[in-house]
Amino acid sequence: MSDIRWKTFWLGLSLLGASLIIWAAKSLVAALIFLCIALVIYIVNHLYWLHQLQIWLKTPSLNEVPDGRGVWAIIFSGLFQHQRKNSRAEVELVTALEGFQRATSALPDGVVVLNHRDEIEWCNPPAELLLGLDASKDSNQPIQNFVRYAEFISYLQSKKYNNKITVKSARNIETTLQIQLIVFGTSQKLLICRNISAQEKIDTMRRDFIANVSHELRTPLTVVGGFLETLLDTKDAVTDSTRTYFDLMINQTERMRLIIEDLLTLSRIESNNEVPSASLINMSTLLTMIQSDANALSNGKHTILLDAEDSLNIKGSREELLSAFTNLVTNAIRYTPEGGTITMHWQLKNKQAVFSVSDTGIGIEERHIARLTERFYRVDTGRSRDTGGTGLGLAIVKHILSRHKAKLKVKSTLGKGSTFSIVFPQSRTVSEPNKEAA
Ligand code: ADP
Repeated sequence: MSDIRWKTFWLGLSLLGASLIIWAAKSLVAALIFLCIALVIYIVNHLYWLHQLQIWLKTPSLNEVPDGRGVWAIIFSGLFQHQRKNSRAEVELVTALEGFQRATSALPDGVVVLNHRDEIEWCNPPAELLLGLDASKDSNQPIQNFVRYAEFISYLQSKKYNNKITVKSARNIETTLQIQLIVFGTSQKLLICRNISAQEKIDTMRRDFIANVSHELRTPLTVVGGFLETLLDTKDAVTDSTRTYFDLMINQTERMRLIIEDLLTLSRIESNNEVPSASLINMSTLLTMIQSDANALSNGKHTILLDAEDSLNIKGSREELLSAFTNLVTNAIRYTPEGGTITMHWQLKNKQAVFSVSDTGIGIEERHIARLTERFYRVDTGRSRDTGGTGLGLAIVKHILSRHKAKLKVKSTLGKGSTFSIVFPQSRTVSEPNKEAA
């Protein structure tokens, strides 16, 4: 810029000098005429280069930057440098973008980039295939126009994207899709879509296999158990020396029967995709029943207390929830030594109904707590078996709760006792007295 100022300064000075010389040599009029002609040439020159600049700006190409004269040579050279820097940055950006698009296109998962208004900015070929999008036609269209699953719309509107959702593909009923949204940048979103049909198939096959095996074993086991009992009851069929073996056989067949029943219950709950009923459960009746069953199981060895809010009820499957609550209470009795206390609480906390069972039993070490709901996970296998456990109780509870969108919370101190709580969602909690509850 300083170059331009110097050049203009020297040009002006030269013109003034030349005019003064002409004035001295000729006359003032001749000097003024010279100055006017020089100024006209100067302005015409500027207008010409301005016109060249305007032409170039219409299609600014690096190869066609005008050369310019005088100050215009400096201006055009600056423009050339600037344009070259821009072109280089543009090439780098395009290369990076192409690299990103190539990488995401190679992904087996569908990827859709959404802008802050949830409109499609870009999507890869698997997303086109899985969600029925067309990258060339559908950009700038709201994603809800194409991905119309009710679960997806409410997921998108919820703004809580920690979980993934699973939907049956509308394009192919055999296909199951898993969808997740990830927020990035200011408020853009990345939609990741995966075909999990193969995994689903394997899970279903595994579930069916367990259910079939359990079902097939049930009858022979009943027959064996029945014959063993008949033999024990038949006079002189069992000698005193072999009676202990018969008792052991009967115990073991009973244990197997319980495991098979629990496996069947688990596979029944797992394969039930229907939303559990929303009928209102009269909790006061249900809890009184659970308390009296608990007293019968404990056989007077424990104090069993119930502290319940009468006006608090829930909506759900009575049969399933009775099984879940009973499981927790039964565990509390089984893992609490004689003389201990078991307390059932039924309260409203943060507008959510909470059922909790506290015991003064053996407690659980912290490291085991996260794994308690795994199938056949036991802290102490011997104790679980001795008390008639199958190792499946809490796995069944977990599935029942997930069907009801409820959560299981466990607090425990080794040697002091445990509290197992079920927290129900607000949508299933009814906190006014309701005479229609069943
Ligand atoms: P199980 O039939 O073995 O009791 P569960 O699935 O019901 O199987 O429970 C899993 C494990 O959790 C149990 O084996 C036991 O170690 C532990 N557990 C469950 N409830 C309690 C409790 N109230 N106190 C101490 N340990 C418990």
